Amino acid sequence: MNIRNFCIVAHIDHGKSTLADRILEYTGTVSKVQMRNQFLDNMDIERERGITIKSKTVRINYVSKNGNNYIFNLIDTPGHVDFSYEVSRAIRACEGAILVVDATQGVEAQTLANTYLAKKMNLKIIPTINKIDLPTANIEETRRQIFEILELIDEPILISAKTGLGVDNLMESIVTMIPEPKNIETENLNALVFDSYYDPFRGVIIYVRIFSGRIYPGMDIVLCSSNTVYKVLELGYLQLEMVPANELTAGEVGYVIAGIKNIHEVKTGDIIVEKNKGGYDNKYFSNDEIKPFIFAGIYNLNPGDYDNLKIALEKLHLSDASFQYTPVNSDALGMGFHCGFLGPLHLEIVKERLEREYNLNLIITIPNVKYRIKRKNNDEIIEIDNPSRFPQYHEIEYIEEPYVKSMIVTPTEYLSNIVELCKSRRGTVIEIKQLDSNHTLTNFEIPLSEIIFGFYDALKSVSRGYASFDYEFIGYKKSNLVKLEVLVNQELVDTFGYIVHESKINSIANKMMKILKMTIPRQLFNVSLQIRVKNRIILRDDIRALRKDVLAKCYGGDVTRKRKLLEKQKEGKKKMKQFGKVEIPQETFLGLLKINTD
Ligand code: GDP
Ligand code: MG
Repeated sequence: MNIRNFCIVAHIDHGKSTLADRILEYTGTVSKVQMRNQFLDNMDIERERGITIKSKTVRINYVSKNGNNYIFNLIDTPGHVDFSYEVSRAIRACEGAILVVDATQGVEAQTLANTYLAKKMNLKIIPTINKIDLPTANIEETRRQIFEILELIDEPILISAKTGLGVDNLMESIVTMIPEPKNIETENLNALVFDSYYDPFRGVIIYVRIFSGRIYPGMDIVLCSSNTVYKVLELGYLQLEMVPANELTAGEVGYVIAGIKNIHEVKTGDIIVEKNKGGYDNKYFSNDEIKPFIFAGIYNLNPGDYDNLKIALEKLHLSDASFQYTPVNSDALGMGFHCGFLGPLHLEIVKERLEREYNLNLIITIPNVKYRIKRKNNDEIIEIDNPSRFPQYHEIEYIEEPYVKSMIVTPTEYLSNIVELCKSRRGTVIEIKQLDSNHTLTNFEIPLSEIIFGFYDALKSVSRGYASFDYEFIGYKKSNLVKLEVLVNQELVDTFGYIVHESKINSIANKMMKILKMTIPRQLFNVSLQIRVKNRIILRDDIRALRKDVLAKCYGGDVTRKRKLLEKQKEGKKKMKQFGKVEIPQETFLGLLKINTD
C-alpha cells in the first residue's frame, strides 16, 4: 500500500504548524478559502498563545510527480519540552520524521532532543531548513550544523513554510525517503493507541496505528492493559473530520469508536487485539511510562464545585493522559485534587483549560517535585509529592531530591551568564562543548525543583532570548532540604508548605512574605504572618487592621447605595478563600506559584 506515516518535529517556533498548513494546502486537503494560519492548532488556547499543545493527525491524499497515489498520515507535534511526551508517542506511530530547522536560528536544544528521540526509534529523518525567505536566513551555517551537530547525512531540503517555496520537493522526498509501513508478519490485529479523547455523545474516540492485521466494525476487541472487551461500532480515517471506513489495515492510521464510556480503560500506548486471537506482540507495546515531574494541588474557589472539577479532570485526562490526579483533603482549602504534571507550562495549560473549557474557578498550590525520604529505624523509603506529608524532622535519616540532566544551546557570548544562572540554582556544569564558531552547548546537572520556577524566564533574560533549553530526568540525590511553613494568625496554612534547600531558606522566606503582604487585603483586625522552619519562627510581619468601616461613608446615605456597596463586597469575597477569620485572595496563590529560586 502506498502509505507514508510521518511526524513533523522541531524546536518551538521553527515552523512545524506552518509547514503543516502548506502541506494541507498543497495537497488540496484544505482549500485556500478555508485556510488560516496554524490550521491544526484548533484549541483556543493554542491559537492565543501561538503554540501547539496537542499533536494533530491528518490523513492526506498525495499524487506524486510521476502520477502515483499516496496516503500520508501527518502528525504535527508540539515543540516545548513539557510536551515531549506528545512527540514521543507520535514518533511511535510513524516511520519517518520531518525535522524542521529554522534557518535564522539554527540547531537549538529541542532540535537536538528530537533528533536523538527519532534516531532512537529508528525513524527516517528528513532534515529540512525552513524560513529561507527571510533575509536573515543563514542556510549554509544551518546546513553545516545539521551535518556536524546532528550528524545527519542526507542533504537538507530548503523550504519556506510561509511562501510554500520548496514544499513540492519535500513532498516528493516524503515518498522517496520515508519507508512504507513494514510488511505484515502476522494476520492478527495489533493496533497501537497513540491518542484518544472523550466525546460526550459517542464516548471515547481512540486514535490507532495498525501494525498488523485488520480491524472492522463489529469486531470484538480487547484493550490489553485493562483487559476489557468491546465491539467496534465505527472506525475510519482522520481527515479533517472523522470519515468512516469499512476497515483499517496494517500500516494505516485512523480512529476507532467502541462505545467506551469508562475513560480509565483507554490508555495511550496500549495495544488493541482481536478477542480470542492471542496476546499482543510485545514489540509494539509502548512501555515508556508517562511520569509527571511536578505536583500541585488544584482546588475550587467555590467549594460547591467539587463534583464539576472531578468530572472536568476525568474528561481532560482523556485528551491529555500525561497528567495525574488523586483526591485530597486540605485543612485550609477543603476537598480538591493532588495533581502531577510534566512541567510548569503543562501545569499552566491544564489550569487554563479547566477554567475555560469547564468554567471553573481554581486555586493552584505551590508546585513541588517528588522527594524520597529515608526514615530512621525504617528500611522503607517513602516518596512525598505533597509537602503536607513531610515527616517530623527527628524521624528523618536523609532526604533525596530528583535531578535532571539539562542542555542549553546558546550563542557563546552569553555562556558565562548561563553558567552563573546554573550555579545560582545549585546546578553543576558537566560539559561545555563548542558547537560551531559562535554557539555553545552546556550540559549540566541540576535539581529539578530549581527549574520549575521561573527558570525559563531567567534563561531568556540572561541570553536576550537566544538560549534554548531541554532536560531529562536522571535520578535522585541526597540533599539538605527543609520545609517552610506559613502561619496566618498563628494558624498553619497547610497548602502554603514549601520544601526548599537549606541554602535558600532566607531568600525564599523573604519572597513568600513579600507576596503574602502584598496580596492579602487588610482586614478589620491585625493579621500576623509567620514563616516557620523546623519549629522555629524565622520571619514575621503583620498586616495592619483596616481602620475605616467601608459603610461609614454611606452613613445616612440612601439604602440602595449601601446595598450596592455590600453587594460589591460580597462579589469581592467570592474570589477569596476563608482561612479561619482571614480571607486569602487568589492573587496570593498566583504570586506564590511564580516565586523563583534565584
Ligand atoms: P511551530 O512552533 O514549530 O509550530 O511554529 P509555527 O508554525 O507556529 O511558526 C512560528 C512562527 O514562524 C510563526 O509566526 C510563523 O508565521 C513563522 N514562520 C513559519 N515558517 C516560516 C517561514 O518559512 N518564513 C517566515 N518568514 N516565517 C515563518
Ligand atoms: Mg506548532
